[in-house]
Amino acid sequence: MRAVVLRFANALRAWFAVIRDVLLPRGCAGCDKPDEVLCPSCVKLFGHAYPKALPGDDVRCYGCSWYQGSVRQAILNWKDHGDEECDRVFASLLADLAVKVLAGQASYDRIHALVLVPAPSSFSSMHHRGRWQTLPLARSMVRYLRGYGFASVMKPVLRLEGVRGKSVQTADAQSRSRRIAGHVRVTEDLSGDDSLFIVVDDIVTTGATMGQCIAALRAAGARDAIGLALACTPNRSG
Ligand SMILES: [Zn+2]
Repeated sequence: MRAVVLRFANALRAWFAVIRDVLLPRGCAGCDKPDEVLCPSCVKLFGHAYPKALPGDDVRCYGCSWYQGSVRQAILNWKDHGDEECDRVFASLLADLAVKVLAGQASYDRIHALVLVPAPSSFSSMHHRGRWQTLPLARSMVRYLRGYGFASVMKPVLRLEGVRGKSVQTADAQSRSRRIAGHVRVTEDLSGDDSLFIVVDDIVTTGATMGQCIAALRAAGARDAIGLALACTPNRSG
């Protein structure tokens, strides 16, 4: 039943997208500049590698940008208003971030393979949006990273269970952490896999979900895991 509802929602959304494209020529997802998916000025805003502090000390997470202004607008248009043309450009920006972050790791030479893991969505969020939005990002990143010479695969092994949705508005890290705790599940045993696991998310706010995902991957046997996101909210300390 759920699959049928999702398929119907997808079909409906695709029709709306066709009608919208005919009636309204597209503008930049970030600033509405005509005829661009994401204009060069907005692309530039995603060209950073900001470290994001997560709850817990030994986890690493990086964002292409801070979640504000045109960055925020572009991500909202993609995530909540069905601007799927952003998938490819966002994936390429995330792949660039991965290359920058890996170049900064002391253990860079020892990284033989990458496993891209889309951050999990709750069923209600997938139902609302009609898709698991980090999945196409992780999938396209594999292609870009192979182009950069990294052996890469995608493994959608994380599931979020028993939470009503992933709310960006929830500001309190502690309550968010409690809400998510115990709800991230890994669907396979990863022991013996010495790839670097990269959790791919769109927005990291408190870092609670990302911290849980990284911890869950490690608990399932992943030797090392980091998180990458399109945007992060600035750390409280800076
Ligand atoms: Zn723009």
